[in-house]
Amino acid sequence: MIQDIQAEYDLRYAIRSPRPTDPVLCYGQRGVYVASASPLAFPRAADFPGEALTYLFRVGDEEYYLAPAAADRPFDTVERRALRVAQPQERAFAAVTGMHLDYWYRHQRYCGRCGQAMAASTAERAMVCPGCGNTVYPTIAPAVIIGVVQGERILVSHYAGRPYTGRALLAGYCEIGETPEDTVRREVMEEVGLKVLRTRYAGAQPWGFDHNLLLGFYCEVAEGEIRVDHSELRDAYWLPRGEIGALNDSASLTNDMIARFRDGFDPFPRDGGLRIRHARADELPAIMRVYATARSFMAAHGNPRQWGPSNWPPEALIARDIERGKCYVCEADGQLQGVFYYDYALDAEPGYRDITQGAWRLDRPYGVVHRAASAGLRAGVGTAILRWALAQSGYLRIDTHPDNTVMQGLLTKLGFQRRGIIHVSEDNDPRYAYDLGES
Ligand SMILES: [Zn+2]
Repeated sequence: MIQDIQAEYDLRYAIRSPRPTDPVLCYGQRGVYVASASPLAFPRAADFPGEALTYLFRVGDEEYYLAPAAADRPFDTVERRALRVAQPQERAFAAVTGMHLDYWYRHQRYCGRCGQAMAASTAERAMVCPGCGNTVYPTIAPAVIIGVVQGERILVSHYAGRPYTGRALLAGYCEIGETPEDTVRREVMEEVGLKVLRTRYAGAQPWGFDHNLLLGFYCEVAEGEIRVDHSELRDAYWLPRGEIGALNDSASLTNDMIARFRDGFDPFPRDGGLRIRHARADELPAIMRVYATARSFMAAHGNPRQWGPSNWPPEALIARDIERGKCYVCEADGQLQGVFYYDYALDAEPGYRDITQGAWRLDRPYGVVHRAASAGLRAGVGTAILRWALAQSGYLRIDTHPDNTVMQGLLTKLGFQRRGIIHVSEDNDPRYAYDLGES
């Protein structure tokens, strides 16, 4: 975003005189005057002989001054909108921030209470009326940027009757007496007729173009039909996460919020934000690392025999699982959190036909989970896998090693019951058989 600069922004107030080489911000009707558009460079104090220049701030090594706005300066102009992507970014930030101060200075020339000419305070960034003492501080208009999300989709819109024609999020000014969360609820109802269920702060952005402080929120809404307020918006519609595509620039909070959502961020996660999907062939090395981690964990928790001796599962088996679409991964925070095999059929695991010391509860098609492993990065991965498989199948069968007390505890916690003993092809140890589900 445009404010994310490496250089220090020092806004301490001072009254001082420029050196001839200090950069000067001066704004015309269309934008900021420049000595060079690319790379962005501004006129120098020496270019404004005899004019009253106001010290604004320091960005990095550069101390910026403001010259009175004028339409007929002998410089090139960089348009306001182009500052979003101008480089170096530190100077673009200075130009946008100076734009806000310039607007404020120009609108505080006379006292709003008694009408006398105002003077700059000697102590702080304020304009003071010598007649009545009225003191006016820089004016910032807070506004919200709203990422309305529902599961895997986000609401995007296009403004009606504004120069900016790109994709936008809902937005609106905070009214007096409102919290920003109130503004989110009101604007979403006014602009698209949807009821906000909850909000989540998504970051802020000073936006000198329109003298704003933008406050970003994601919000979740109740089911309902979008009713577009056409006085504000040309249109508004749901855009699936996978169809968001490339974004035109990274300067704005709006694009930052859309990009974060596009890249997998879930502001209102269920199951701790874990998402389950088919594994990809290129993930095989990462998946094998998850299995290595899981074997170490099992060995350290009293279960060295289930996978340890045979280095189970072999890579060729996982490669085949992936190819057959039976290997799934859990993902969160852009990282693999777990991996497992899942299948569903009448006879999904032929090895389960022979069960001793008991019987399966139901005789119907079932889901089966094998080779479930957590990367050990966060809690809840096993629970998420089993809940997902149960939701897919309605009836899940699973087995585990007698030494795997971690898995046995999890299965019991989730309501699985032990039905008997089965055997597996990879070794001679018995396995406990569990199931859970509806007929
Ligand atoms: Zn006054």
